[in-house]
This record gives sequence, structure tokens and C-alpha cells, in this order.
Amino acid sequence: MNSLPKKINDLIDVLTGLPGIGPKSAARIVFFLQKAPKELNTDLADAIVDAKINTRTCKICYNLSEEEICTVCADEKRDRSKLLVVEDPLDLIAIERAGAYQGFYHVLGGVISPMNGIGPDEIRIRELLERLKKDQEESEIELIIATNPNMEGEATAVYIQNEIVGDKKLKNKVKISRLARGLTTGADIDFTDDMTIRKAIEGRVNM
Ligand SMILES: [Zn+2]
Repeated sequence: MNSLPKKINDLIDVLTGLPGIGPKSAARIVFFLQKAPKELNTDLADAIVDAKINTRTCKICYNLSEEEICTVCADEKRDRSKLLVVEDPLDLIAIERAGAYQGFYHVLGGVISPMNGIGPDEIRIRELLERLKKDQEESEIELIIATNPNMEGEATAVYIQNEIVGDKKLKNKVKISRLARGLTTGADIDFTDDMTIRKAIEGRVNM
């Protein structure tokens, strides 16, 4: 790499380490952009900045949104008796795409992962519990926990369950379920096909 201009090396360094991109892919992207018209480079740079500046997290569910409240939360026709918990917005998109769910969501923004220094307070579990406590409806809420079927996802699901069962008010109000085991252990929900997601939601089991 040392025979390359510094600015090229800097760009390769920035791209390296993005999800799924190693040094070789980063170099390929940079050489592609060098050969491409200048407009493609400026359009790409503008789009990255624009998406970052003009996107925020929904103040109800923490999904990505252009407005204060995302399109899912703003949809009056949705089923208020169901709340589905996902790790990140990509999981929400995958479940929406599968089309088998009509309730609302809560985006945790990660999972509990002691190895990476992420405890319960680093993700939005408090916010989830507060949201459930604030709910004015008398009727029962079904909380469907759709964290990924790996060790950290399971640990996060169990933590949430314990917090709810340990709370007098929530214990009787919230019924907890988990996606069915159709999902392969270790799989990522956002890489799972629609049919498998639909089956996992339909076959969800009580926790
Ligand atoms: Zn929302």
C-alpha cells in the first residue's frame, strides 16, 4: 500500500472495518471510485452525510426515522396488544418485509454481551420497561422477544423476562413469548428468508 498516494491509503483505511469490508474490498471500492466519474463520488459522499444528518431514532420505538415518530409507530391501524423486541432496525425491516406481524416494535440497539463490555444499561431495556409501565391500556400486552437465536440473544431475552416477572405491575400485564425455533441457532434475523420469519412468528412460544 505504501506506493499509493496518502489520500488513497487514508480512504482505504476508513472503509476497512466497515461491516463486511476488509482491506482488499476497501481497496477495490477505492479504485472503482477513482475510475468512476467525479459525480458518483460526490453523490456518494452527499448521500452518506444526508442520510446521517436527516435520520434520527423514533422517540417511541428507536427505529430509524425521518420524523420524530417512525411510520410504524404512527400507523393507527396496528395492533396495540403486541410489542415485538428486536436487536436493531435491520431486524425490524426483515420482519416487516415478511409481512406476518401487525403490532408495534421496540428496538434494543444491541444485545447484552459481557465479552464486549455491553451490559443491560448499554441497550434500551430500561426504556422498554418504562414503555410497558406507561401503557394505559387495561388489557394484556404480548411481548414477543425476537433477539437473534445465539448465546447473547438468548441471554438478553432471559434478562428481559426476569425483569418483567420480577415487577409486580408488569408480571400480570405482560405475556412474554419468543420466536419459534424455525430460525437456525446462531442465525441472524436480518439474513433470514421471509417464509422462515413468518413461521417463527406464527409458531412463537410462551416463555
Ligand atoms: Zn417508532
